[in-house]
Amino acid sequence: MDVTRRDFLKTTLAGGAAVSAFGFSLAPVYAQTRALKIARTTETRSTCPYCSVSCGVIIHTLGDKAKNTTPQVVHVEGDPDHPINRGTLCPKGASLEQEISNERRLSNPQVRRPGSDRWEDISWEQAFDEIARKLKDTRDQTFVERDEQGLTVNRCEGIGWTGGCTDTNELNYLAVKTMRSLGVCYFETQARV
Ligand code: SF4
Repeated sequence: MDVTRRDFLKTTLAGGAAVSAFGFSLAPVYAQTRALKIARTTETRSTCPYCSVSCGVIIHTLGDKAKNTTPQVVHVEGDPDHPINRGTLCPKGASLEQEISNERRLSNPQVRRPGSDRWEDISWEQAFDEIARKLKDTRDQTFVERDEQGLTVNRCEGIGWTGGCTDTNELNYLAVKTMRSLGVCYFETQARV
């Protein structure tokens, strides 16, 4: 049998299955090639944070088993066992990996001071201190115990909270508990928890 290298690689489709020049099916080889991308990853089930549909996703992380490696998310896909989306994702959800591993993603708190035209990096400690100070002062100044009819309302009218579309449900849950305990009633998150 005279088989060139090209012939060897060339395949014909027979009955829907890929068959090599020698007559054996290459379908398992192709399937294995696809599997290699996530062959050594750890699967973590989570929820797409972008909208309140809350589709289930599987996050594939590579390199979190060894001590000298930095875990890296390499793939995100729809969870086929999830009752909401059955493995499907819209374009936003399908691009989640690009949101997780993005060089332009901020990793420091930033602040824009009153009157300033630029954002500046600050440390986490400084951010916590400044936010806590402003929350306390604003709540003290704007807390309303009784309304004009004398009814007990115990609400803080000087603070509002809005959640971003990439906040996790866990963060939104904590935000609800924290803000409600302060008496904040102007509150919204995309998760609607
Ligand atoms: S995958 Fe799309 S539809 Fe599903 S939760 Fe994410 S943004 Fe919403």
